Amino acid sequence: MMLDRVFKAEGNEGGSLVQPLDMMTLLRTLFPLPRSLTGDGVRATLQALRQHISVEIHEVATGTEVFDWEVPREWNIRAATIKAKDGRVLVDFADNNLHVVGYSVPVRGTFSLMELAAHVHTLPDQPDAIPYRTSYYAPNWGFCLPHSLWTAMQDEAYEVEIDSALVDGSLTYGEFFIPGDTEQEILISVHVCHPSLANDNLSGIVVATALARYFLAQPARRFGLRLLFLPATIGAITWLATNEARLDRIVHGLVLTCAGDDGPFHYKKTVNGAVVDLAAEHVLRHSGHAYQMLEFSPYGYDERQYGSPGIALPVGCLMRAIHGTFPEYHTSLDNCDFVTPQALDQSFRLLVDLLVTLQRNAIYCRVDGRGEPQLGRRGLYRAIAGQKEAGGASQMDLLWVLNQCDGSRSLLDIAERAGVPFSRIRAAADLCLDAELIREVRQ
Ligand code: ZN
Repeated sequence: MMLDRVFKAEGNEGGSLVQPLDMMTLLRTLFPLPRSLTGDGVRATLQALRQHISVEIHEVATGTEVFDWEVPREWNIRAATIKAKDGRVLVDFADNNLHVVGYSVPVRGTFSLMELAAHVHTLPDQPDAIPYRTSYYAPNWGFCLPHSLWTAMQDEAYEVEIDSALVDGSLTYGEFFIPGDTEQEILISVHVCHPSLANDNLSGIVVATALARYFLAQPARRFGLRLLFLPATIGAITWLATNEARLDRIVHGLVLTCAGDDGPFHYKKTVNGAVVDLAAEHVLRHSGHAYQMLEFSPYGYDERQYGSPGIALPVGCLMRAIHGTFPEYHTSLDNCDFVTPQALDQSFRLLVDLLVTLQRNAIYCRVDGRGEPQLGRRGLYRAIAGQKEAGGASQMDLLWVLNQCDGSRSLLDIAERAGVPFSRIRAAADLCLDAELIREVRQ
C-alpha cells in the first residue's frame, strides 16, 4: 500500500517499485575496502559509487582549519601482520581490515608478549569477534583480534609489522546534488569512515545511493536533494566550515545510518524540533513497521554537528539498530550477513515515502473560505469516486482539506489531525487545486 502511495505521489503509473540499484551487491563490493577517516579506502569507496551516481569527490588539504579543528594527516595502510617466530602468520590485515587500529603509525620489530599486550584489543565477552578500534588523534599503533586467538598466543615474542603511512595529504568526501525547482535543499548525510562494517556505515551509503538513483529518474521537485558521503565528525565539520554561506538553503535534513538490520526503526529528532521530525513520525506510523522516536542528544552521528548551536540545521537521524546497543556493533560480526536485502529495501522505501512527503508538503488556504463549497457542481464527488478504487483520497479527506486549509496548517498537519496517510490528504488537495478551491500560501 505504501508503495502505491509513493508512486501516485510521484505521478507514476507503475504498480511496483523497480529497484534502482542492487543495494546488497554494492554493499558486498564496498565491504573489503580499507576505509578510514582519510585515505585511499575512502577514495575507492567513492569511485565505486561513481558506477551508479556521479558523486563529486572533494579533497581538503591536511592542516586546513575547519572551525575549531584542523584537517588531519592522511592515513594509508598497505599491510600488517603478527607472525610467530617460526614465520607462521597469526594475524593478517589482508584477511580483515579490522585487525589494525585505524590510524596506526608504522611499526616493525620483535615484541614480547607483554609488550604486545599493550597494543592488542580483544572482546572477552565475544571471543570470536574482532573489535573495531581507532586512534585518530593520539599517535599509537595496535591490533584487534579475536580473544580466542589472543589467549592461545603463548610464545615469548612475536614479529610485528604495520606498513602504514601517516603523511600530509587530504581528507576526501563525496557530494551529489539533484537540483530542485527552488534554491532550497534537503540534506542526506552518511558516514564513510568505517572499514569492513556493513550496517554501521555501508548500509547508509548504499541506501543513500539508491535514493539518489531513484530521485534522478523522477521529475524535478521543489527542493534539491544533496547527499554527503563523508568521514564522521571531521568530515561533517569540514563540509559545514567550507559551505557556511549556503547553509540556510537546507530546509530538511537526515543523517542515515544502520539501515540494513532487521530491527525496528529509530528516528532521533532534530536539536530544535522541525518539520522533518513530524514527517518522519508520520511515515513511520503509517508504514506498518515497528519504530521508536528518540529525543535529540549530543551523541551518536553527525546530527550533533549539524545541530551545533552556531549551525542549528534541522537534521534528524534515521536508523534501525542504535549505535552501541547491538552485539554486532563495531565488531567483525557487523558483516554482510548481518545486513539483509529485505531490511535495506524497507529502509529505502520508507525514505522514499519520507522524502516525497517533505517535497510535497505545503500550506494552502481556501480561495473563498466562507462555508463549505458545493462539491457536486465542481465534479468533486465524481473525482472522489474515481480515486476510491485506486486507494486515493476519500470524501472525508476532501472535507478535512477544505476545512483545515486556512493558510496556517500544512498538509502534513492536516494528515496528522485527520489520522490518515499524507498521500491521501495530498491527493485531496490536488483535487481542490484543480477545482480552484484552494491556493498555496508561500512562506
Ligand atoms: Zn560506528
